[in-house]
Amino acid sequence: MPLLLDPAPAPLHELKPYKSLSNEELSARIEAVRREMGPKLMILGHHYQQDEVIAHSDLRGDSYQLSQMAAASKDCRVIVFCGVHFMAETADILANRPEKLAERGGERVRVILPDMAAGCSMADMAAIDQVEAAWADLGEVIDTSDVTPVTYINSAASLKAFCGRHGGIVCTSSNARAVLQWSFARTKRVFFFPDQHLGRNTALKMGITNDQMPVFDPYETELGGNSEAAIAQSKVILWKGHCSVHQMFRAEHVALFRQKYPGIKILVHPECPQEVNDIADVSGSTSKIIKTVEESPPGTKWAIGTELHLVNRLKQEHPEQEIHFLSPVVCMCATMYRIDLAHLCWSLENLAAGRPVNTIEVDPDITRWSLVALERMLEVK
Ligand code: SF4
Repeated sequence: MPLLLDPAPAPLHELKPYKSLSNEELSARIEAVRREMGPKLMILGHHYQQDEVIAHSDLRGDSYQLSQMAAASKDCRVIVFCGVHFMAETADILANRPEKLAERGGERVRVILPDMAAGCSMADMAAIDQVEAAWADLGEVIDTSDVTPVTYINSAASLKAFCGRHGGIVCTSSNARAVLQWSFARTKRVFFFPDQHLGRNTALKMGITNDQMPVFDPYETELGGNSEAAIAQSKVILWKGHCSVHQMFRAEHVALFRQKYPGIKILVHPECPQEVNDIADVSGSTSKIIKTVEESPPGTKWAIGTELHLVNRLKQEHPEQEIHFLSPVVCMCATMYRIDLAHLCWSLENLAAGRPVNTIEVDPDITRWSLVALERMLEVK
């Protein structure tokens, strides 16, 4: 559980007046705090964040890149993470790991999430008590010492720690295949959390079939809704979780774009359902999506299936290409969108005034075991 460190953080009702300020005024006040605090303050902006917030970010990237870059900084003492809750937890874990604390003479890096309500629906789908109950349930029918628990980085620190404790590992969307290979070199099976689509799309490319991948639904009473035989013949047990943004893309959207724009290429994130991944031209992590567009010749036509703010930014930054959003409906990360200029300004001004709000500090035991799972991931090439 995250702990609020400060005895007297600014009260939440003080946020209200910020809501009536113009974006220009908020931006000017945010920049004033940045100038005052200098390199000791690092504002991180996730790729899915809105442009107004990105404009004030020191670094832009995906969650793991951002945490690693901030943790590597010698000057940084405060990270304001304009992302979602699990990202701030990861930043706290990496920036305050034992060797980093030793380098700073024990001084912690404070990590702030400007709005505590900025959660991740996918991470929330795998609560630790559900995961522990599922593990015990599986232990009734298979040998769980022959199962590697693998969690996508988009998960709570408590789930990362669970994987650390049980010989498991963390993966990102870039290294999921290598992590599965690492796991199969050690055990017969994998239990993959929380995104069933990333787990399935990755394993299918490795030749594992859908009938070897039962889906474990934590709301079903018996073996997550599976028979003993299905669990016994499984290679990858998929947790029934998904990203509410990427799950919205459909095979009919792909067909629609191909019919309307002959020659268009479909570029999607592996959090999209199998029906979309199977027929896309390219599937890859956020970094791969950006790199693919950057490296394509002028005039290339793309329909991109990932979060709306990132697609719109790619469109602005690459006017030489024709970029479309691969859905007729808006698919944006509504929880990340909660972090607006008002929350950013409120959290920064309170920080500068010495009464910081929304500090994320992960429990030491959870930190220790999460690091075990994260360090295993770093060993995977
Ligand atoms: S885009 Fe999906 S996985 Fe990413 S933070 Fe938002 S809800 Fe979570």
